[in-house]
Amino acid sequence: NDGYYYAPVGPWEIDWREHYEEFFAKRDGDGDAGSLKIRFADVGCGFGGMLVRLAEVFPEKLMLGMEIRDKVSEYVRERCAALRKDHPGKYWNISCVRANAMKNLPQYFEKGQLEKLFFLFPDPHFKAANHRRRIVTTTLLAEYAYVLAEGGILYTITDVEELGKWMSDHMSAHPMFERVPEAELTKDPVVPLLYTGTEEGQKVERNSGSTFLNVFRRVANPNH
Ligand code: SAM
Repeated sequence: NDGYYYAPVGPWEIDWREHYEEFFAKRDGDGDAGSLKIRFADVGCGFGGMLVRLAEVFPEKLMLGMEIRDKVSEYVRERCAALRKDHPGKYWNISCVRANAMKNLPQYFEKGQLEKLFFLFPDPHFKAANHRRRIVTTTLLAEYAYVLAEGGILYTITDVEELGKWMSDHMSAHPMFERVPEAELTKDPVVPLLYTGTEEGQKVERNSGSTFLNVFRRVANPNH
């Protein structure tokens, strides 16, 4: 039902230079190919509010939004272009692609490439028959474990209590993930942005609604 859209065969097929031109140009020839890899992915990034905030806090990390709605992903790329124009030298580390993350994630990232993966206010799919469409499922968690580096962090937040419990239960039960303790979360500069940086989070704050935060770490491979 997404119609036709481009998806790469594998990450090698994509020329990221087009997305992050100035970031690449600045680092050309410095021998640090690792700095030219995408490290953060915001799945279902919507209008890109979180990417914009993250770009300011982590200017040396490349980040990608993945958004299934074509027009919305185009809007995010235009938003990046406008920010770059207004703030020379800044915002060259964020971009967005149209992608169905449930299908295409391993086509965009290599094994162990990502340090942070975000699922912020994902669609709740309330009906039991649609639960399989939820972005956190046991099957998909295996893919997230694949693209995340050991020690990488998966951030989830929702204003739907039942979905929060669903995500918490699935991540807790998965052998490749462990909960990040509260004490660590209070020190993580990303956590406050989950509320203020996302368009959905701002809506919830305006209505003084509740949110359910669940943050998990990708554990080391067994036998390592
Ligand atoms: N994360 C943003 C925020 O917090 O403001 C947007 C949240 S919005 C409720 C959920 C977004 O996920 C929508 O923009 C939707 O188009 C997108 N989405 C839903 N399923 C997706 C999928 N399989 N792959 C990529 N994006 C998806």
